[in-house]
Amino acid sequence: MNKEIVQKMLEKYGDRATDSMFERSLYARDLAPVPAILANMLIKTLPDIVVRPSNTEEVAAIMKTAFANNIPVTPRAGASTVYFNSVPTKSGILMDLNLIKGIVGLDEEGMTVTVKAGTTWSELDEFLNNQGLAPKSFPSSAPAATIGGWFCMMGYGIGSMKYGSLLSQVKSIEVVLPDGSIKKVSQETNPALDWFVSSEGTLGIITQLEVEVRKLTNMKHFLLQLPDARKMLDTMKTIIDAPVVPYNMHFSDQECLKAMKALGFSPANMDIGCIIGIDYEGSDEELKQAQEIIDSLAVANKLVNPIPQESAELEWEERFKALKLKRGGPSVLGAEVWLPIKGLPAYLEDVQKMARGYGLNLFSYGHVVTPEYATVMTTFYADETQTIKYIINLSLVKKIHDIGHRYGGNPYGVGLWNSPMIGRIHQPPQLGELRKRKQAMDSKGIMNPGKVYRAPLMLNPFNYSLGMNVLAGVRRVFGKGW
Ligand SMILES: Cc1cc2nc3c(=O)[nH]c(=O)nc-3n(C[C@H](O)[C@H](O)[C@H](O)COP(=O)(O)OP(=O)(O)OC[C@H]3O[C@@H](n4cnc5c(N)ncnc54)[C@H](O)[C@@H]3O)c2cc1C
Repeated sequence: MNKEIVQKMLEKYGDRATDSMFERSLYARDLAPVPAILANMLIKTLPDIVVRPSNTEEVAAIMKTAFANNIPVTPRAGASTVYFNSVPTKSGILMDLNLIKGIVGLDEEGMTVTVKAGTTWSELDEFLNNQGLAPKSFPSSAPAATIGGWFCMMGYGIGSMKYGSLLSQVKSIEVVLPDGSIKKVSQETNPALDWFVSSEGTLGIITQLEVEVRKLTNMKHFLLQLPDARKMLDTMKTIIDAPVVPYNMHFSDQECLKAMKALGFSPANMDIGCIIGIDYEGSDEELKQAQEIIDSLAVANKLVNPIPQESAELEWEERFKALKLKRGGPSVLGAEVWLPIKGLPAYLEDVQKMARGYGLNLFSYGHVVTPEYATVMTTFYADETQTIKYIINLSLVKKIHDIGHRYGGNPYGVGLWNSPMIGRIHQPPQLGELRKRKQAMDSKGIMNPGKVYRAPLMLNPFNYSLGMNVLAGVRRVFGKGW
């Protein structure tokens, strides 16, 4: 990047901009520990400058400079994603959006809140709770994840089962387009709101969102123990078809329970079978009905074992600690799959076959986020300090995705690392349409380049598949017990 432009930005934004090597290097990674040797071989992760705008006008001014000078811009908020979604691939400007924070206005009659994009879900929840309200849904990374960040990703999490995706709850957004113009976007405008959902910062910078809210109500929590995954699926279906819709439903397989028990985290100290956690929110009448639904499940079917209420409540309290398994680490690797729930038992069986084949433990847990789909996370322990072994272990992530694909699933989120599998996420006409939108909105290709639409050359699907399969073969033969 041109030194003069860097210098001008440093002068204009003062201590909200930096070109210090140390500070920039903090932005050259995300939550996933990817060995620098691998990342640097493929892309340029180190930004030339990091800027922290504090309002929409500053975002627009930075975008105008980038547009006029063809400088890549990578938006970054909570950085709680793991596919290098918010890590540069071509250096340039790293736009840290965490100062664009706060509540703009609450419309209690219309039941919406307008909020700045860098506000975290926990901050919004706290504000709303003080008014007797709550967000309709939020990610289980709510303490770090921002409203804008989740909208730019898939937007399914806790509460989606009852209230749908985040897209269905957002009325409008304010967005700064790649040329620096500011636009209010709704489902009626051109471009429409749904262009920006899951766009992963590749079409513009979202600065403000108007989001639906709900009344803060009481909750009831349940945990059920099931002997196996098939019984778990039957029970899920009965609960989904019942007259009261759960707010949230999550599950863990037996291997996950065992790993949690070894670390002292297992609900009610269990390590046999699977568990489903079900959370309801609503009126007293709805909660009474929910209790009857769960009671009748247990009475009608002796294989369904209700776990004491205190454990179910504790499980809910720990809803933001999805990474606690990492304590068995040093690191965890894994794949998150968007999977039809009807394929869940077969998926989990094949995952365990894979675990036996490679001589490792694979733990699966997830959330049922629609009546038909779940987000399933399958993880295993790895050691990032053992670079070669760690890189070979990365091939197992593809193998887990292959199992998901066999049962109608695909990667949840794209970023850089899942871009070789983009053909599994979108059918050709849909992908063609997304590429057309990208071309129309960002003809210079400066917004978060190298992500989402196609893999960089070295990661193209053929190279990726061949490379990962060879490494997986090496892992299978030489890596038992790593
Ligand atoms: C423990 C844990 C639990 C998680 N649970 C869930 C879950 O329940 N559901 C789920 O979907 N995900 C989940 N995630 C993944 C991740 O936390 C979410 O996708 C989160 O919403 C990302 O928000 P963020 O602010 O961290 O965004 P970042 O990671 O900073 O950015 C995400 C993407 O959006 C872009 N971006 C960010 N903000 C903006 C903006 N304002 N304008 C334009 N582009 C922007 C970035 O360039 C990047 O491509 C979880 C992650 C962890 C570690």
